[in-house]
Amino acid sequence: MNSFTFTRARTIADALRSARGDVKFLAGGTTLVDLMKLDVERPAGIIDLNALPLAEVRRTPDGGLHIGALARNSDVAHHPDVVRDYPLLSQALLSGASVQLRNMASTGGNLLQRTRCVYFRDAAMACNKRSPGSGCAAIGGFNRNLAILGTSAHCIATNPSDQNVALTALEATVHVTGSNGERSVPIGDFYLLPGQTPERETILEPGDLVTSVTLPPPAPGAGSTYVKLRDRASFEFALASAAVVVTIKGGVMQRARVAMGGIATKPWRNLDVEAALEGQPATRERFADAAQILLSDAKPQSRNGFKVELAKRCLVHALSVATAVT
Ligand SMILES: Cc1cc2nc3c(=O)[nH]c(=O)nc-3n(C[C@H](O)[C@H](O)[C@H](O)COP(=O)(O)OP(=O)(O)OC[C@H]3O[C@@H](n4cnc5c(N)ncnc54)[C@H](O)[C@@H]3O)c2cc1C
Ligand code: SF4
Repeated sequence: MNSFTFTRARTIADALRSARGDVKFLAGGTTLVDLMKLDVERPAGIIDLNALPLAEVRRTPDGGLHIGALARNSDVAHHPDVVRDYPLLSQALLSGASVQLRNMASTGGNLLQRTRCVYFRDAAMACNKRSPGSGCAAIGGFNRNLAILGTSAHCIATNPSDQNVALTALEATVHVTGSNGERSVPIGDFYLLPGQTPERETILEPGDLVTSVTLPPPAPGAGSTYVKLRDRASFEFALASAAVVVTIKGGVMQRARVAMGGIATKPWRNLDVEAALEGQPATRERFADAAQILLSDAKPQSRNGFKVELAKRCLVHALSVATAVT
């Protein structure tokens, strides 16, 4: 491991002041410390955020929810307001990692966790995301768990998070503070496609601190669910996952929000899929039509063609569950 400086921030201003040059914020450390041990992350300095007052989960005046960036995944998953009003977020969080990891993992760290592409995590391999311009060993290599949507010739890595898929279906807003002041970004605009610069994953600028995430008020009468398909039942990342929130009246879907994980380079929302559901009867045929639209642009790699059918079934199943509970 390389040597680095360690600073414990006492205030947000402290954290921002220290965030100059090649430094990284530390929350739960379950991504960052792993990657430092693997020699993938080599920051010159670490700024520990854990003393900052950013762990609160509370209602917002409009009936939505504020989740502090340091709120632990376990605390959010078991928070009574989340369980009652945003159950798909609770389900998504509880489907991730293990109890011990969720007790450490934070909302902000989960938003910014890195890909599980095996070549990204192996400093000896070509990887444009880790080392821009070095190539992509996953294209034509071991890409079974990688993306079929949103890829480029430079990177096909998935965003591995469960939380982020639920937050996307819930139309969350990410709140950021940095040298340019405070700003709020809809989660749909927070992640970038890899394009020619896969090393750039979000709109964050160096030194930006995520302070919280907010959710809009829950949609009245909506049914929702998070479905995660993976190789084993626990302690495993998604091969395909679906987060859906649907409101039905008279058997007809009035409002649908759909996000997919495990299949794309960022939490995947396609407005055409939602438009194909809204105004339609809640039947498996209409769900299958929407799934067809979702996968129409899929570009499978050498070993992940199975994800096309898997993702379709995942979405159809999630819609069946969510519409059955409205
Ligand atoms: C064995 C294992 C299995 C896992 N399985 C799953 C799974 O099934 N599903 C899933 O979704 N996840 C899974 N994870 C990933 C886990 O959820 C993440 O590691 C965790 O959420 C990261 O949060 P953290 O607080 O530990 O982040 P850290 O490791 O502290 O930080 C991660 C990154 O975010 C940055 N950062 C942290 N907080 C802030 C902030 N407030 N502002 C700006 N930057 C910040 C850090 O600088 C770092 O770059 C797994 C992890 C492990 C190790
Ligand atoms: S898919 Fe992306 S993360 Fe994986 S090796 Fe290629 S460039 Fe690196």
